Amino acid sequence: MEKVHLLTLGCPKNLADSELMLGALVRAGFEITLDPDDAQVLVVNTCAFIESAKKESLDAIMEASECKSRGRGKRLVVAGCLAQRYGAELREQLPEVDVFVGTGNFLDLPELLRRTESPEARPIPYAGAAHLLPRADASRIKTGEFFTSYLKISEGCNHKCAFCIIPRIRGLHESRPLADLVAEARMLAAGGVVELNLIAQDLTAYGRDLEPRSSLAALLRALSSVEELHWIRLLYCYPNFVTDELLDTIAALPNVVNYIDIPLQHADDRILRAMRRERSSVMLTRLLARVRARIPNVTLRTSFIVGFPGETDTAFERLMDFVRENEFDRLGVFTYSHEENTAAYEMPGQIPERLKRARRAALMEAQGAISLKKNRGLVGREIEVLVEAPLSGNTARVRGRSQGQAPEIDGSVFLKGEASPGEFVVAQVEKGLSYDLHARLCERLSIEQEKVAYHG
Ligand code: SF4
Repeated sequence: MEKVHLLTLGCPKNLADSELMLGALVRAGFEITLDPDDAQVLVVNTCAFIESAKKESLDAIMEASECKSRGRGKRLVVAGCLAQRYGAELREQLPEVDVFVGTGNFLDLPELLRRTESPEARPIPYAGAAHLLPRADASRIKTGEFFTSYLKISEGCNHKCAFCIIPRIRGLHESRPLADLVAEARMLAAGGVVELNLIAQDLTAYGRDLEPRSSLAALLRALSSVEELHWIRLLYCYPNFVTDELLDTIAALPNVVNYIDIPLQHADDRILRAMRRERSSVMLTRLLARVRARIPNVTLRTSFIVGFPGETDTAFERLMDFVRENEFDRLGVFTYSHEENTAAYEMPGQIPERLKRARRAALMEAQGAISLKKNRGLVGREIEVLVEAPLSGNTARVRGRSQGQAPEIDGSVFLKGEASPGEFVVAQVEKGLSYDLHARLCERLSIEQEKVAYHG
């Protein structure tokens, strides 16, 4: 039995693909190993969204290639967005790679590996569709903590944001059938998942292409009937399609957390138009007011890009003012990445890297002060926490997350008290830092209490 080691880079959408790839490999008889030196097959599932991600992916390929050269008969696979975007060039530059699989044919990997078993075999380039929609009946090997999972509800994107290469890599938007998503959610819940994080390039596009037509709100209503799911969370909502129906559905369903991630990208009208985001800052302010009015105690997350071509000091100041005025609960800031085959690539007024980094630091500093103020305001409050892990070397302290903290991208709650991973507890906040909270465990919730809390 051959052993396979898989490294995932990039976003949770790539992680979802990796879990399907592992499922296909295990079904074909491969064994998974966490030690690359112990593996006969090394897979790097890459990201190619922005320059830094490409560099990280190439570094990981070089490291895997060194590992390959240390053992006999090892094979190296490059999967994911980098293979999809640059397959032909990479084949020339990286002759040590045995197989390239893209974002649409990674389930063929077991078969492709069989074709490279002989030492004379030639490297296999990528050839396939832009994406592959997951299916509930496909084998999926869930990685990471047992109690939380991502659920990819659609693939591809129909928007034409000037800075973004994703539609060229992953193709046009396509939704998964609603019943298939509910079936997968039920399977995940049966395996112990209590938190489900919905992902896609744009969640709000969900259902518009289905026959009969559906919507994200309808999907939330269906998923919320899965009793074991206590927290259902929305990531990546495109601003134009955040409807009142969606906001009211989030507010009304007890197991959909009052959390929403709406990447706004900028707040200066001229830059928004150049980005092809179609929204003015006045409309964005109205949207934020609507979100806050319709979802009580909502945690609002957004992300911005600084250093887009033509971003003057004045345009950047407008963005700073917008962030100070709107006081987001969570904020991510990216520096613009100059990507070929995007509309922004040829735009005049490209900004030097140093200035982009300085603007990012200034925006993060402004947000740091806002987050600190908000987190200090929670001191004394009781919050619900999903326990993730004990803190190393200390059995009387654990780390967890509140409803307002998404996995991997937001902060943590550090708790005084003993509890098990996957358990929900009530804790009193004792200290608020810029991104994390410190709290004292007050009560461990029994399964019955949790059921009453979420389903009445
Ligand atoms: S909505 Fe997101 S994925 Fe789609 S083009 Fe815009 S930035 Fe890219």
